[in-house]
Amino acid sequence: MSARVLVVDDIPVNVRLLEAKLSAEYFDVVTAGSGAEALDVIAANPPDIVLLDVMMPEMDGFEVCRRIKSNPKTSHIPVVMVTALSDTADRVRGLEAGADDFLTKPVNDLALFARVRSLVRLKTVMDEWRLREETCSEFDLLGMGGVSDVDEGNDADILLVETPGPTADRIVESLQRVGNRVTTAACGADALELSRSKPFDLLIVSLSLSGEDGLRLCSQLRSQEETRQIPILLIIDDFDTPRLVKGFDIGANDYLIRPVDQNELIARSRTQIRRRRYQDRLRTNYQRSLSLALTDSLTGLYNRRYTIRHLEGLMQRLCDNGKPLSVLLFDIDHFKSVNDTYGHAAGDEVLKVIAQRASANLRTTDMVARFGGEEFVVVMADTSRDLAAMVAERIRERVAAEPIPIPDNPAGIRVSVSIGVAVAGKGDATPDDLLRRADAAMYRAKAAGRNRVEIDENNPGDEIAPARAANGF
Ligand code: GH3
Ligand code: MG
Ligand code: MG
Repeated sequence: MSARVLVVDDIPVNVRLLEAKLSAEYFDVVTAGSGAEALDVIAANPPDIVLLDVMMPEMDGFEVCRRIKSNPKTSHIPVVMVTALSDTADRVRGLEAGADDFLTKPVNDLALFARVRSLVRLKTVMDEWRLREETCSEFDLLGMGGVSDVDEGNDADILLVETPGPTADRIVESLQRVGNRVTTAACGADALELSRSKPFDLLIVSLSLSGEDGLRLCSQLRSQEETRQIPILLIIDDFDTPRLVKGFDIGANDYLIRPVDQNELIARSRTQIRRRRYQDRLRTNYQRSLSLALTDSLTGLYNRRYTIRHLEGLMQRLCDNGKPLSVLLFDIDHFKSVNDTYGHAAGDEVLKVIAQRASANLRTTDMVARFGGEEFVVVMADTSRDLAAMVAERIRERVAAEPIPIPDNPAGIRVSVSIGVAVAGKGDATPDDLLRRADAAMYRAKAAGRNRVEIDENNPGDEIAPARAANGF
């Protein structure tokens, strides 16, 4: 799908010129002749990027940009200011209004296309995360207002890769003055090593390192796992378009031209740091909501949904490698009377402690899940029936051995569990088949007096499957 570009300029010929250039590169172009019209277009059908003229009557580009960036519904849309002014004071003003970049009229085509492509690419990644975030908040998995809080883009860890000297010193000093911590590297090798030592918020890379190709370093930073997502700000000697285009292609996010204007340095760094943190927050929230969806909040154990999935994978592997897979299914005995006698909160405490006791008596590769109410499942890969029976007996014994302390009854209460053990076989088509046999064994344990382990002796490889076939199941 081609990117949708909104071109905003009050002078029709400027609009047509940019429209023609961008259409020729297969961008999908929409236009607006004023700031107000632009905001209408954006509200009706948000573009992937906005190219915004600065000087317009009534509402100028700075104001339009401020409005786009202060509206949570549109703040993620990249804005490039197109300006006749090359005054750094104006650039800084634009960056402070939230602009992502500046292009100077007459617009250099290659720089324009490279910039648009790079910003659109970045936006695509962000859109993906935003979508997940929206899905999560629809289910209210996070129970919080999303990620709209304002970040000043300070207090960041920055790695500067620059030849030592007065310029480097000045950059360090400027970044520190606004509250950042700066680490410096004089060559690519040091930079790569340092970049793995801690998570930086921003990498600033000079393209005029003595005897080295700064772009190669950028490419290495983009391919190593630790720095793949960290924004890169380039420092270039003069407006070297081909190298800049290559830089964007490799994945650099922005650039500064020497002599580096200190305010512009701060403004551009801030934009990158903010964006990086925004993306991080989206990702963290997503992971948190995933874990909320797959775990049980009372005990912290995996839930039924996750367990079934996990078992499906393991049973598939079992078919491939023939290694035994065992499950334990256990249920707390007379748990209803715990609730009735001591209250629901005490019941919850008992559930937590039993979860801990079970986990503590398993290998790290075993998985224990709360399957529902007061029922738990343990999944043990590469585990034979005999071994599983031993583990079950150990869990049963440890649960019953010591009373569980509860708030109003420090002496604690004694509880026990009944456990059913089953081993997976080729006759088990789904996790449910396996769990049903474990469940049946568990009910035998209940019937035989509780606080017991019962083992399913079926070998579903050669017994269950034919029996079923005979019964017409
Ligand atoms: P049995 O030995 O046959 O398993 O008897 P039981 O009393 O444990 O079984 P029953 O199924 O009759 O009762 C289970 C109880 O577990 C009823 C329900 O209130 C309680 N329960 C289920 N989930 C929770 C929970 O999250 N917290 C608390 N406190 N109790 C729960
Ligand atoms: Mg029970
Ligand atoms: Mg029950």
